[in-house]
Formats: sequence, structure tokens, C-alpha cells
Amino acid sequence: MKRRQFVRTAAISAAVAGVAACAKEPAASGAPSAAAGQTFRWKMVTTWPPNFPGLGSGANRLAEMLDKASGGRLKVKVYGGAELVPALEVFDAVAGGTAEMGHGAAYYWKGKAAAASIFTAIPFGLSATEMNAWLYSGGGLELWREVYEPFGLIPFPCGNTGVQMGGWFNREINSVADLKGLRMRIPGLGGEVLQRAGGAPVTLPGSEIFTALQTGSIDATEWIGPYNDLAFGLYKAAKYYYYPGWHEPGSTLECIVSKRAYDSLPPDLQEILRIACAAVNDTMLAEFNARSYEALDSLVNVHKVDLRPFPADVLRFLRDLSRQIVAETAAKDAQFAKVYASASKFEAGIARWTKISDEAYYGTRSL
Ligand code: CA
Repeated sequence: MKRRQFVRTAAISAAVAGVAACAKEPAASGAPSAAAGQTFRWKMVTTWPPNFPGLGSGANRLAEMLDKASGGRLKVKVYGGAELVPALEVFDAVAGGTAEMGHGAAYYWKGKAAAASIFTAIPFGLSATEMNAWLYSGGGLELWREVYEPFGLIPFPCGNTGVQMGGWFNREINSVADLKGLRMRIPGLGGEVLQRAGGAPVTLPGSEIFTALQTGSIDATEWIGPYNDLAFGLYKAAKYYYYPGWHEPGSTLECIVSKRAYDSLPPDLQEILRIACAAVNDTMLAEFNARSYEALDSLVNVHKVDLRPFPADVLRFLRDLSRQIVAETAAKDAQFAKVYASASKFEAGIARWTKISDEAYYGTRSL
């Protein structure tokens, strides 16, 4: 068993009351030390393969920013999936105190709280820009904090992939009938939609996708988009690359922080943590957008991938199923209903603006 990372120390003033010192770095004098002068050494567990482009590198960037911005007072060691705990046990590891923080995606934790899915992506829902508008300026982040509060966790938006790709398929999808029996790696609400369509969704961490697809234990997989899919070599294991990623129109990544660990930080480090997460939320989206078109060029021109749009009637069918499933989930789960009511009301409003702003503008490029 791992021993607790922190030991309680007495605070020397009201301003630093409740501070916790790192067990490995006791105060040099032996006297209780002010939080302001302490060095905090934290662990960050992640759901990504170590140093994975975009996602793992985003987590690394967060740790670097925290170190530099804090003048070396908040040092975070980043662990890839399975390096300290299995990829899909990040939530439990931070909630249980094995690590002070984690980086991943909220929809992996829908078994803990169904509403968590909404903070990553809703199929056919908010885009990255719209998601940020809801989270930061539309009440979404307050709801996210409320959902994680019983677990002793504080969530921060910390990265966005932008619109994902529909995925890699070893069979053509020409009609809704082609979804029947399809064994596909697709987590979150998207997986529930596929199941309703007659498919068999599975959730696998990124590190296991390539082998599962290559050995035929799955027929298809979604992952992210060209940048990451190229890095995984998924083009070697599947023939068709479909778009758009209806199931993840702008997936938000998360940084989760143990509330107990967060409360042990002095106010300036808490603020640095909040700002660094917001910065990574932006810079990761920039990285995905900048690298995706280059990777797509390589996939299509060098690796001769068969790039295809989903047929419109397949998308309409999936969109109808998505709305049914979300409504059914809301009818069963009061917390999901509350969060979804906020997100869907926001979406209805911002969609009117997006239509005459981003959508109208992008349309001018093909006039
Ligand atoms: Ca995905």
C-alpha cells in the first residue's frame, strides 16, 4: 500500500490555515512552514499513452507551465496510462489519493456519474468553441464542479481536440444496415448510440486500439483525428476513414485535482493551476488544428487512405438515436437531466449565433 502523500502540519497563520506539507519535503527548520514558501511535489496520472501527441504532450505542457509559473514551487511528475495506475483508473486514483491530479476525459467516468459524459461531448452537440462558451460563460463549469464534488475532485477544462473523425472501418458504411453487428471502439454517449443502432460498442484505452483493430477483435474504431490516428498507425489496420466525428464534435479534456490537495495550496498556486489549465485548454486545440491538416495530407497522399463522408441518411439516423438516448438518460437520472437541460438550452441559443457567424463564414469559402 502506498502511504499518504501528505501529512498535516500546523499552520502558522490564518492565511495559511489548513496547509499540508509534502511528506518527502519536510520544513528545513523542523518548524511548521508557510505554504507560500513550500515546494509541492505532485503526481499527475493520465489516461493517455506516455508523451502521446496532443493529449500526453498537453499534460506534459501543463506540468511544465506549473513548474515555471510557480518558480518551481509546484512540481508535477506526469505518468502515462498504466505507468502508475491503469489508464481507466485515473479518476479513482485521484479521488483515492494515489495521485494529486489527473488528466483525461470526463466521459470515461460515466459509470461514476452519467452526467460526466456531457462535459466531454454530446453527440451532435456543442463544437469546441461552443463548448468553451458553455463551460466558461454559460454555467457549464459550475455544474461540472457540482457533479465531481461528492468524489472530492475539482475539474478544470484542460484541452480540446476540436471536431474528431468518425473513425476507421474495415467495412463500408453505405446505409444504417451496415451498423448492425459492428464491433467498434467508441466510448461515451456515442457508444450508446451505436448500440441502439445494432452495433456492439467497446471502451478501450488508446494504447489497446491498434492491436484490437489489427487482430479483428473489433471491426472499427474511433480515436481522435488525423494527428493522433496517424501516430497510432491506424491506417495500417483499417481501410476506410470516415468523417465527421458526429459523436465527438469538440471533446473537452479534463484536469482533475484532489480537493484535499488543492486546498493545501496557497492562493497564488491555486490561481496558477487554474490559469495553466485554461492555457492548455487553448493551446491543445491550437495544436490539434495545426497538426490535423498536415496529418490528413499524409494519410491521404502518402498512405492512400480511403477518406469518406458518412452518408447523410446514416447521420440523420444516428442524430435521431442520439436525441432519444439523451432524453431517456435524462428521464432516469436527475443529475444528467439537470446538466443536459443547461447544455441543450445553451446549444439552442448559441446555434442561432453560430449559424450566422462561423457557419455562414465557412460557407463563403466554397461560394
Ligand atoms: Ca474519440
